[in-house]
Amino acid sequence: MDVSRRITGLTGGGSDGWEVFNKAREMIAGGIPVTELTIGEHDIRTAAPILKDMHRAALSGHTGYASVPGTDALRDTIAARVEERTGVPTQRENVMITPGGQAALFAAHIAVCDPGDTALYIDPYYATYPGTLRGAGALPVAISATADDAFQPRADNIAAHADKATSLLINSPNNPSGVVYSEKTLRGIAEVCVTHDLWLISDEVYDTQVWEGAHFSPRALPQMADRTLVVGSMSKSHAMTGSRCGWIIGPEEAISHLINLATHTTYGVPGFIQDASRFALEQGEAFEAEIADPFRRRRALAQELLAAQNTVGLVPAQGAMYLMLDIRATGMTGEAFAYDLLDKEHIAVMPGESFGRSAAGHIRVAMTVADDSFAQAITTLLRHAEVRAHGQHAAQ
Ligand code: PMP
Repeated sequence: MDVSRRITGLTGGGSDGWEVFNKAREMIAGGIPVTELTIGEHDIRTAAPILKDMHRAALSGHTGYASVPGTDALRDTIAARVEERTGVPTQRENVMITPGGQAALFAAHIAVCDPGDTALYIDPYYATYPGTLRGAGALPVAISATADDAFQPRADNIAAHADKATSLLINSPNNPSGVVYSEKTLRGIAEVCVTHDLWLISDEVYDTQVWEGAHFSPRALPQMADRTLVVGSMSKSHAMTGSRCGWIIGPEEAISHLINLATHTTYGVPGFIQDASRFALEQGEAFEAEIADPFRRRRALAQELLAAQNTVGLVPAQGAMYLMLDIRATGMTGEAFAYDLLDKEHIAVMPGESFGRSAAGHIRVAMTVADDSFAQAITTLLRHAEVRAHGQHAAQ
């Protein structure tokens, strides 16, 4: 029996660099130690006090169906947090809780795109984006942000595709590039959205991981609150990836339709997870800084090591748990370099090509192992690149 094109179309087909990741997993399963700098997951687990609160909530009976849009308490906490951080008036009615940011991305596109509508997104992109957009029935169209522009998207490139489009998906701080979109970039994007009547889906799941300056949400720009759906999540900010708790913030009417969608799909998020998420959010910014701190430290370590050589380039690393390294001086593709590094040095990184065309000749390094192993891996990676670029003698 055939399954639908909608579901077979979720994955792109063809080689996309994920084989490197799969090979690393096979090597590990086969007993070969590999330093894994691939997936965006913390090397710490969810903090014990959060788990204790989850346990308390479950024992107190919050194990039945929870309210579909999310508990009043969690929606209020998130609304207050967003209002405080962005200045945009935000109430419970502007917030719907979802089972993680990924489900929020899918729901947001279902909410704004009719089947066949063009949904724009920026290349390089988080790997699920094109499939998510296709799965929601939209036609995904990638807009390139180039290494020459330090991976900041250009408003005129977006505008060139905007007439036929319904929505634009952006992500800052960005996975995979580690770039934070400047206020100028975001103002340019907002102007295109207003002029061309686009919905903006703003994926802000890394909003607590900003190494320079502060996070800026485009929902706060003039005329944007009515046309922006912000995707948020507990995964990265609170090391709660497995709890599957995220949200969508948007205009009340869109949220009311999204609640209908949740009634017909997820039927909400477990109450004990929501209670624990609220508890986690109440720990405030100091706790969020503590969760982000290992990445801040490792970024500094890498910057120091990279400054001492000139073969591998570092794309401005302003946020999120990744570094994007330019390895074009080796003459290799990101994919070939990643395979080679895995084979010879047992270090697994993601080829830039896994995240679209714009990051070709780059690799993405997740800063997700302990500081000493991380520094060692970067040192080895840089030496490896040096040998590939200039031969063995150059690396002595
Ligand atoms: N957006 C981006 C850019 C991500 O990197 C991720 C996870 N890696 C997500 C969304 C989804 O995260 P979650 O579903 O765990 O909230």
